[in-house]
Amino acid sequence: MRKDNPRSRWPHRLKCAVSAIALWLGLLGLLAVFCFLFPGPLSTPEMRVHYPMEFLRGLTQGGLLVGLALGLTGLFFATQRLRSAIAVLLAGAALALGGGYAQPWGDTLDAPVIGLDFLVLDLFALCLLFVPLERALGKPQPVLRRGWRVDLVHFGVCHALVGLIAAASVVPAHVLFSWALDFEFRQQIAAWNPVVQFVLVVLVVDFTCYWLHRAFHAVPFLWRFHAVHHSIEHMDWLAGSRQHLGDILVTRAAGFVPVFVLGFADVAVYAYILLISFHAVFIHANARVGLGWFGRVLTSPRYHHWHHTDQAGLLDKNFAVLLPVWDVLFGTALWRKDWPESYGLSGDGMPESWLGQLIAPLRRQRQ
Ligand SMILES: [Zn+2]
Ligand SMILES: [Zn+2]
Repeated sequence: MRKDNPRSRWPHRLKCAVSAIALWLGLLGLLAVFCFLFPGPLSTPEMRVHYPMEFLRGLTQGGLLVGLALGLTGLFFATQRLRSAIAVLLAGAALALGGGYAQPWGDTLDAPVIGLDFLVLDLFALCLLFVPLERALGKPQPVLRRGWRVDLVHFGVCHALVGLIAAASVVPAHVLFSWALDFEFRQQIAAWNPVVQFVLVVLVVDFTCYWLHRAFHAVPFLWRFHAVHHSIEHMDWLAGSRQHLGDILVTRAAGFVPVFVLGFADVAVYAYILLISFHAVFIHANARVGLGWFGRVLTSPRYHHWHHTDQAGLLDKNFAVLLPVWDVLFGTALWRKDWPESYGLSGDGMPESWLGQLIAPLRRQRQ
């Protein structure tokens, strides 16, 4: 009698998950090891001083060992062989370089060239949080859905250039509004209770971003850049990263102007950045969450998903980033209990590569 091969009894989805997790851990682990080896050029000095290093080193080492074990398991059971083999190679190389306990190599530059640390940490944390959340609360959709590669490149570029983008975003305010430094009220505002300042930062920046967002939709030249973001056809936590660098720079530079002129303290501004960084990912997530009554106060995934629909008669709604009150006040709010049937630019041929999307605004006509 023929015996069942135990290897064939693995459910297909489990096989895919084992090799995908192995690859994810191997890749992130190797990138983390590079950060330990070259902290100067590859990690952000402002963040580095706050890191719980022992914990991060232990986490890296543990992640690499688990990634290696899962990759070997995949190879042993002959599942997703190529993926499993790459995972074993990546994790093996990272461990050979010292793993989580790799020490810096010689004297390295102290100025960050790319924010690899931010990329690795954010990718690790967001995957850990949103992949299970979307599996539980989202519409059925593969984790690696169509277009994930280009969105991951957008995510990587934006995170790696975080220092450069932050530095460039404050230049226009410093150049054009330096006269505001003489205002006495700046010192008074900076001395207010940080919670009050935080609320005010949210209000003034969100109001600015609402109108800027409307301008991106209304002005043909600006729309060419913003169209890259609206070319998303499958919403998830990674999709929101698809944004043209010009869109990012203009939005951040404009949002910083009221913060600079009014002179808010750093703590209030950083709290806002923390909130908006998480929230921007959350509202694009493939999670059927409307937030109930609180969705009238703070934008929810359902609210922002309707901004991305391509359904006729429902375009140009829900521009608010954080606070739906702007859409209510200016007549652009769309409250619906259901979810969009489709997203995107209605069949418009946006290039599918990162470089193609970068140069698309220079070549495209307005939709
Ligand atoms: Zn938009
Ligand atoms: Zn969006």
